[in-house]
Amino acid sequence: LTSKLPSVGTTIFTKMSALAAEKGAINLSQGFPDFPPDARLLERASQAILTGNNQYAPMAGLPILREAIANLIERHYDRKVSVLDEITVTSGASEAIFDAIAALVHNGDEVILFDPAYDLYEPAVTLAGGICRRVTLSAPEFRPDWLAFAELLSDKTRLVLINTPHNPTGSCWLAEDLESLWQAIASRDIYVLSDEVYEFIHFGESAVSVHKHSELKKRSVVVSSFGKSFHLTGWKVGYVVAPAELTVELRKVHQFVSFCTATPLQQALAEHLMALPEASTGLAVFYQQKRDVLRKALADSRFTLLPCEGTYFQLLDYSAISDMQDVAFCEWLIDAVGVAAIPISVFYQQAPKDQRIIRLCFAKEDSTLLEAARRLAQL
Ligand code: PMP
Ligand code: GLN
Repeated sequence: LTSKLPSVGTTIFTKMSALAAEKGAINLSQGFPDFPPDARLLERASQAILTGNNQYAPMAGLPILREAIANLIERHYDRKVSVLDEITVTSGASEAIFDAIAALVHNGDEVILFDPAYDLYEPAVTLAGGICRRVTLSAPEFRPDWLAFAELLSDKTRLVLINTPHNPTGSCWLAEDLESLWQAIASRDIYVLSDEVYEFIHFGESAVSVHKHSELKKRSVVVSSFGKSFHLTGWKVGYVVAPAELTVELRKVHQFVSFCTATPLQQALAEHLMALPEASTGLAVFYQQKRDVLRKALADSRFTLLPCEGTYFQLLDYSAISDMQDVAFCEWLIDAVGVAAIPISVFYQQAPKDQRIIRLCFAKEDSTLLEAARRLAQL
């Protein structure tokens, strides 16, 4: 068998979570909460199952959920989107991203992404026959370099993949970054895939969004995830907003990848969203407190804390502790102190050789964070 993805192995999330479970370590590697979602949402999901919402949903998503999503986007971003033609519910943001790439990238097209990047982007581009070109984001700020970006543009560039707030670095773009992106691509035939799954987890000023850029939004596919916004990573319900002509193409893929997303979960989310005053209520404040618990508990340790402006990930530089490469360091860390982390080199096409940085997920009970920090501070 000739592999279509010869350089891809099992994801780091699967590997590190399995190692953490096997060795009984505190798992701050894969990003998921260790606390339960809102009990009312769970009740709604149970009721949805018991009252018979158990057959296929419409391919594009339950109309009442799409209605609730349109309301959310209007309230939060002041953007009006068509419930019929511009919103598609998918089985997680992952499916949305995969569908969009499969629909937009032709054989030989070039796709620009930023280095480091979330791990599913490049394999999806490769399977579509595209070629990835990456713009380096440098520690500790991981700011995009728009001159370097412009140099990568060519007649073959078809898609730009952006992600803010950014996994794995926790950095957030500024409004001027979206404007720079727009200026660079305006005169070209290029689309944007904006992964905004951490849209409500940003600290300080509002996170920027393609939804709020009057021009970019006409060229973009914007991806969101209920997993991140409602502490439900295992439900795998996401959605994608795109202009009608892009949505038509995206749905051609979606209908054959999954056809539709779990009906009772869509029903529960729709009812929940309609009952909420604000979809994003308190999420940023909630996670900022967790970030600060972790940062404070590690302040006197030998780790250096990098800035964290959004997401539920905190980067730590361990160069004062060890010379090991980050993958080896994370394996060692599990045995040494019983804490599982993610080595960030796996998100790079070309990781800087001397970089010694790991990622911790702080979507955890305070007691989990404090115990993990106590262990890490022993090093
Ligand atoms: N994009 C990014 C940046 C993510 O961090 C994640 C979740 N880890 C996803 C996409 C996938 O989201 P979902 O679980 O909804 O498929
Ligand atoms: N997005 C999660 C993370 O970055 C992992 C999702 C997954 O395991 N596929 O940790």
